[in-house]
Amino acid sequence: MTVDWGDGSPIEQRNYGGSFAGDWTHAYAAEGAYVITATEALCPGTNVDTLTVTVGSSLLDPSGPLFMPAVVGVVLGIVGVGLANGKVPPAGGPRGRIGGPGAGGPPVPQPRPRLRLLEGIPASMVAHLVSLRDIPMRARLQFPVMQPPRIGIVPGQPTDLWEDVPCQHGCGKLGYTVAGWFCRNPTCPGRGR
Ligand SMILES: [Zn+2]
Repeated sequence: MTVDWGDGSPIEQRNYGGSFAGDWTHAYAAEGAYVITATEALCPGTNVDTLTVTVGSSLLDPSGPLFMPAVVGVVLGIVGVGLANGKVPPAGGPRGRIGGPGAGGPPVPQPRPRLRLLEGIPASMVAHLVSLRDIPMRARLQFPVMQPPRIGIVPGQPTDLWEDVPCQHGCGKLGYTVAGWFCRNPTCPGRGR
């Protein structure tokens, strides 16, 4: 019967005389996984059997050199997860801000700041841009600079950004200058004296 130890060493051969266990051993020179192949070719037919063994230590082998570092790593990992999930005290101390809402108690909803939403979008200043010389004398500013005229948006319909901005006194369209929106009609009833 022959045995191939799977590590490149010469194939051993012995005569079968009883039990092989105990007196047929092999020492491996390096760690790793080896496939032991036993072959018996003398009896009628050839019988082959294999066995895979792992030589060396693993992380879970208490006698191995890597066991303690592995245990320490696992413990530190668990501690790290615990710290990451720990309860974080609020800023300014565990009692919260001095005199602030919710100090020492559950959080209190704060009033929402007034949000001003304007409808539509500003009319195109480029499409209506004119020179100040095109504005009649004593014409009045019709829209504050910070509140330009806006074009309403109708759902389902395209919005014309270049839409004309009518005069508030019903005499035509406005022109946009560096000073704001003015009516271009010299006879606009909205003119000042
Ligand atoms: Zn006008």
